[in-house]
Amino acid sequence: MKIGKNISLSLSLAIAAVFAFPSAGNAVTLSTGPYPGKNLQKVEVVHYANAKPGAATTKTGGGYKLTGYKLGLGGNCYLNTSGVDEGAVSKFQAAVDTWDAATSAEIFGSVTSDSDAVYGDLDGKNSIVFDRYPTDGVIAVTAYWVDRSTRIVVEFDMMYNTYYQWGTVESNGTGVMDIQNIATHEFGHAFGLSDIYSSAYSHVTMYGYSNFGDIAKRTLDPQDVLGIQKIYGK
Ligand SMILES: [Zn+2]
Repeated sequence: MKIGKNISLSLSLAIAAVFAFPSAGNAVTLSTGPYPGKNLQKVEVVHYANAKPGAATTKTGGGYKLTGYKLGLGGNCYLNTSGVDEGAVSKFQAAVDTWDAATSAEIFGSVTSDSDAVYGDLDGKNSIVFDRYPTDGVIAVTAYWVDRSTRIVVEFDMMYNTYYQWGTVESNGTGVMDIQNIATHEFGHAFGLSDIYSSAYSHVTMYGYSNFGDIAKRTLDPQDVLGIQKIYGK
């Protein structure tokens, strides 16, 4: 009996730990830099092309899943336009505005181009880059740093994998990864939503897989709206 109880307790703790920090990441405590004295946790979320056979499905209840974190409001974002058309800025802005329009909170500011934007550096700047991610099958990745005590995301970065051709379906055809489509999904992560892997919700913006020509994620589904409003209000 006693052993069983201990196992059950350990399991609960393990689940609690997974819930608090859904992806494995490195804990970094910084005494200098842009966030002095904060105890930060880095989380990295990867977005894959296609569902892998036998991929785990998650029970999601209402078709959305929260990371448990919230973005500090009113930030701006910087796109390094190296490797991508300058017009991409407006696609990222459209992606941000789509989420912002679903809640009364002003989640985010503007997206501008910045040749110094780099991925993965805790540098006080929300950065977006197009670069070659080393793992095949990865469309994009979002990294974010969370203040452990407030559960506020203090900074995030995104990398869009140049292994793929990027563009806009209307201009470039269905053989490209649509920037606004994938960006809307990735901003969902930065704002506090997790991937949904249940095929019952393959239509929602936060569905964890995507592919060439997909534009369904540009617009939010009721489940995505429920999720964002759960975090920031109606
Ligand atoms: Zn994702």
